[in-house]
Amino acid sequence: MKTKEETTIPLGLYVHLPFCRRKCAYCDFVSYSGKEDSISSYISQVLLEWQAISTVLLASTSFRITSCYLGGGTPSLLSEEQVRNLVEGLFPQGVPADMEFSIEANPESLTVSKLACYRDLGINRISLGVQSFNDTMLLRLGRIHTTRQAVEAITSIQDSGWENYSIDLMYGLPGQSMADFSADLKKALWFGTPHLSMYCLTINPSTPFGRQLAEGKLMLPREEEIIKMMDVLEEETLSVGFEHYETSNFAKPGFACRHNLTYWQLDPYIGLGVGAVSFFTQESGPWGAHWENPSTFWGYERIARSGKWPFLERAPLPRESAFMETLLTGLRLREGIEINQLQSRFGKEMVKKTLQGVAPIVREGWLEVEKGHLRATKQGGRILDALILELVSDIMG
Ligand code: SF4
Repeated sequence: MKTKEETTIPLGLYVHLPFCRRKCAYCDFVSYSGKEDSISSYISQVLLEWQAISTVLLASTSFRITSCYLGGGTPSLLSEEQVRNLVEGLFPQGVPADMEFSIEANPESLTVSKLACYRDLGINRISLGVQSFNDTMLLRLGRIHTTRQAVEAITSIQDSGWENYSIDLMYGLPGQSMADFSADLKKALWFGTPHLSMYCLTINPSTPFGRQLAEGKLMLPREEEIIKMMDVLEEETLSVGFEHYETSNFAKPGFACRHNLTYWQLDPYIGLGVGAVSFFTQESGPWGAHWENPSTFWGYERIARSGKWPFLERAPLPRESAFMETLLTGLRLREGIEINQLQSRFGKEMVKKTLQGVAPIVREGWLEVEKGHLRATKQGGRILDALILELVSDIMG
C-alpha cells in the first residue's frame, strides 16, 4: 500500500495576467493593452475558475501545490491590492511555506513598495523582463522602459533582500552586433543574477516585426552570428558557475525554476485565465488530459459567466500524443529524457522503435544517448525547433 506522501501529486499552478501598458513590436503572447480597467473583474473570473477546478477536479485528488507562477502580460502592472486579492483568493489557507512562488515584473512598473507587498504575500521569486541594457535596442523592441529603469529595478530587488530572481534578456535582435550582445550579457552577469533566461528573437508574421520583415525593413543578425552568440552565451555563463538546464534557461546551482521544470518534465499543472493551458494526469485516462482556455477576454468572460469551463470537457490524451509530447518537452532539458522512465511509462516496444527511428539523427550528431538519457547534443540544441520537427516527421511518418 502506498503512503499518503506517495499518492500526493505535485501540482504547478499558473495564472495568466494578460495586461500590458503597450504591446511590444515582437510580441505574439496573449496580452492586451488598454484593458487595465478590467483587471479587478478579471481577477474575480480567475478565482471563479480556480474554485470550480478545486471543487470538481481536485476535490478527490491528494495534491500539493509545489509552485505557483503569476505570468503575463505584465503582472507588476497590477496594484498591490489587486495582487493581494488574487493571492488570498488562490490560497485562502495561506501560501504553502515550501512553495516556489514567482511573479513576472517589468522594470517600469516594479516599485520598492510592490516588492515589499509581494514578499508579505509569500511570493519568493521575481522574473524581471529586462530584454536588453541598450536604450536604442529597447526602443526598437517597443519596450516602454529604459536601461536606467532596468538597473534601478535590479538594484531594488537586490537591496530588498531577494535571493531568488531571474533576469530575462533577448538576443538575435534587429541590428544587434556581437559587441551589443556581449555587453548585455556581461551586464546581467555583473549583477550576479542567480538565474538568466535568454530568448532568441523569433518573428511572428502577425506582429509589427513580422510585417517589417516581410517589407524588407528589418535587419536581423545572420544565422552564423546567432550561433556565435549562443556559443559565447554558453561559455560565459558556464565560466561563472551557471548550469544550462534548459534550452533558454541558465541557473546557479539550486536556482533552476521549479515551475518551468513542471512543464518540461510533464508533471501536472493547472493554468488559469485567458489562453492558459493545463495538463492533468489524475482521473483523465492513463496518459492525462490537456485543455486550453479561450485566448480572448470576451471568450473567457463568457465561460466564466456560463460556468462551462474547458476542464469539464477535457478529453484523455491518446497514448501516441502523450509519448510525442514527452519526447518533445523532455528534449528541451539539457539532461534529456531518461530512457528507463520512458520505457516504464510507454512500454519497451514503443521506445525501441523510437530509438531505431532516431538513429540517423544520432549518427548525424544532433541527438545522443548518454548515461541512459536521450538528449540533444550541443550542436542539436542550437537548432532544437527544426530538430523536433524532423523528429516528429521521422517518428510519425
Ligand atoms: S511586456 Fe511582454 S507580454 Fe507585454 S507586450 Fe511586451 S513582450 Fe508582450
